This record gives sequence, C-alpha cells and structure tokens, in this order.
Amino acid sequence: MSGLPPLREVIRAHGLSASKALGQNFLFDGQLLDRIARVPGDLGDAEVLEIGPGPGGLTRALLAAGARVAAIERDRRCMAPLAELGEAYPDRLRVIEGDALAIDPLPLFEGRPHIVANLPYNVGTALLIGWLEADWPPWWRSLTLMFQKEVAERIVASPGSDAYGRLAVLAQWRSNPRIAMSVHRSAFTPPPKVMSAVAHIVPEEAPEGVSVRTIARLAAAAFGQRRKMLRQSLKGTPGALDALGRLGIDPTRRAETVSVAEFVSLARTLDQG
Ligand code: SAM
Repeated sequence: MSGLPPLREVIRAHGLSASKALGQNFLFDGQLLDRIARVPGDLGDAEVLEIGPGPGGLTRALLAAGARVAAIERDRRCMAPLAELGEAYPDRLRVIEGDALAIDPLPLFEGRPHIVANLPYNVGTALLIGWLEADWPPWWRSLTLMFQKEVAERIVASPGSDAYGRLAVLAQWRSNPRIAMSVHRSAFTPPPKVMSAVAHIVPEEAPEGVSVRTIARLAAAAFGQRRKMLRQSLKGTPGALDALGRLGIDPTRRAETVSVAEFVSLARTLDQG
C-alpha cells in the first residue's frame, strides 16, 4: 500500500533495535513478504491470525492481500508502528499486546482463520504443537509458518531420516505439511545463524478411533529413546508391547523406522483397548 513509510524507516523512527530475547529477526523485502502472504492461497476478506507482527512487514503483505488480521505481539515498542499501519487499513487490523503462548485466540475470530507468522524461534515449536494438538477439525484453516529450516525439515520428514521424529508424526497424522519456500538468512535483519523455511500445513480428516493424546504419548515415548528398540522405548506405555504383537510390528525395530500410518494403527489399538 502506498503512503506507508519504508520498514527500515519505521524501525529507526520507533527505536526498534532487534531484541534477541524476543527472537526478533525482521523481514523488510516487500516481494518476499508478498510471496509468503500468497502461500495460504487467496486471502481476500479472509481472517488471519499473525503471531509476532513486530514492525509489521508481513502484516502489510497480509493486509495488502485483502486479509482481516488479528495480531498478537509481545513487544510494547511495536504497538505504535502497528497502530499507524492500522490507520492505513481502517477496521482490518487488530493488535493484541501479550504473549501468544498465554492468549486464547479463538474469541478473536468469527470463522476459521489462517495462521501466518514469521515465528520467534524460542516459542515457535511450542505454538505449533499447541495448534497440532487442537480438537479436530481445528479452529484454524491453515498454518503458514516461518521456522529455522531444520525445524521445517523435521515437520515434513519421512521415516528413516534423522529429521523424522515426534514433530513429523504430530504434523502428519492428520495434516498435509510441505515446505513452501526456503528463505536465506540474509533476508533477515539481523540475519540469524541458520537458514529458514516456510512450512505450510493444511488439516485433513483425522483417522477414526485415534485420540491425539494417545498418538502424542506414543510418539513421545518412542522418540524419547530413538536409538532403542521399540520393545525398550515403549516398555513404560501400557498396552503398547501387546499392540505391537497384534499388529505384527517387529518390536526390535527403532522408532525412526515406524511410519506415521503405523503410529496411527498403534494408537488406535491402544485406544480400543
Ligand atoms: N513479523 C515480523 C517480521 O516478519 O519482520 C517479526 C518477526 S520476529 C522473527 C518475531 C516476532 O515475535 C517479534 O516481533 C517478537 O517481538 C514477537 N514475539 C516474541 N515472542 C512472542 C510471544 N511469546 N508472543 C507474541 N509475540 C512474540
């Protein structure tokens, strides 16, 4: 939107020196931000939850794409620049000051929002796990999330790879995650030490007869001791060794060889007693 000052000027005018403690690595490249805002699809009049808008670069791109945005930001210093952005898009932007881990976003929306965020590294995985463990179908329509590349790779990992673990199972058993784009560290100010990537996650129908509690518990136990055989790592999970036998899953296998479908079958067997 014309009329808004360049983001670097916004940062300078409001004294927004990047805070490491708040995981602040800002994006200023308008074209890159527009590409991220296109990942969830057409945002015309769609509701969007953004976590950590900071000075509002991604927020601008979302608003320009036609979204109605509710944004949760912890850094009080960002409130003034975000208020200015809200004035440029009357009635399209609400900013809630606070900790995204502590705020219930559901009352902010009439329908199911897309979640789009360049997440602070320190809370990104905790937020993702909370969203993946929601009641299904979830209250959100899709997730478009910037992570450290290594975290994005864990989300989409396949069995047999080092990246495959608890996060892959939680993300894949009832959603379809993919890496939508890689983002070079030099795109950020200040540049982080590692590369980043945008993960896009769309919920799918949940398999029947499986509770998230059980599959999360199984994945945590199995990957808690990922180098051990299942008969060892699942020893403390009641019914799990019996379920392996009933499903014909070799108990000498290691967690990293167990497919998401096999975790689903194991969880279903446990849930059905
Ligand atoms: N969206 C901006 C961009 O792309 O340039 C900033 C992204 S920066 C990686 C992460 C943002 O999350 C910062 O603005 C930081 O203040 C904010 N933040 C950090 N912890 C938070 C929390 N617990 N709740 C809400 N926002 C948080």
